[in-house]
Amino acid sequence: MTPQAESVMEMFRSSGAYLEGHFRLTSGLHSGAYMQCALVLQYPDTAEKLGRMLARELRQNVNGEIQAVASPALGGMIIGHEVARALGARHIFTERDPATRQMKLRRGFLLRPGEAAVVVEDVITTGGSTQEVVDLLRAGGARVLGAGSIIDRSGGEAAVGVPRVALATLRVASYEEAACPLCRSGVPIVKPGSRPSEPDPGLPVTPDSRSA
Ligand SMILES: [Zn+2]
Repeated sequence: MTPQAESVMEMFRSSGAYLEGHFRLTSGLHSGAYMQCALVLQYPDTAEKLGRMLARELRQNVNGEIQAVASPALGGMIIGHEVARALGARHIFTERDPATRQMKLRRGFLLRPGEAAVVVEDVITTGGSTQEVVDLLRAGGARVLGAGSIIDRSGGEAAVGVPRVALATLRVASYEEAACPLCRSGVPIVKPGSRPSEPDPGLPVTPDSRSA
């Protein structure tokens, strides 16, 4: 792991954002580990620092000036906004239509023809959400130069059709429900992204995250 990745992982550990247990991820896959980015990004100075780091990685790995950063809501919004700040670009976000589950630009967000854009997310697991935003931007006439995330859980394997960067690349096992060893051994599952603010009694919560 690079020194940069080590320092990012330390931010996650110290804010209680690296959880272990049995989780249903946004992708639908099950996993024994979950990165709760919101717990790291709740500190604006940390969010700003991560945004600067990711902006630097993007600048070094894509061709051309980045004019717009697009993120899938909700997870990508804070980091996307900080990356845009560091790049001097604008930030827009996509939302899923509740009826069709399709990713959409709402709230009057428009793309300019040929606008140079990147997609920024908090965590990439399969690359599915990033890919949907890439496709949406292209369909809207933008040029998608690249994509980035704070964490890459795919061990570098997720492909989204454009150059992709991450601040920390991990290989965290995730399983289809039918093949999940944690399900088989009867460990209760939680969907951490949507749980209420009161921590689940079953979730490991570090003293740091309690006092933070
Ligand atoms: Zn499971």
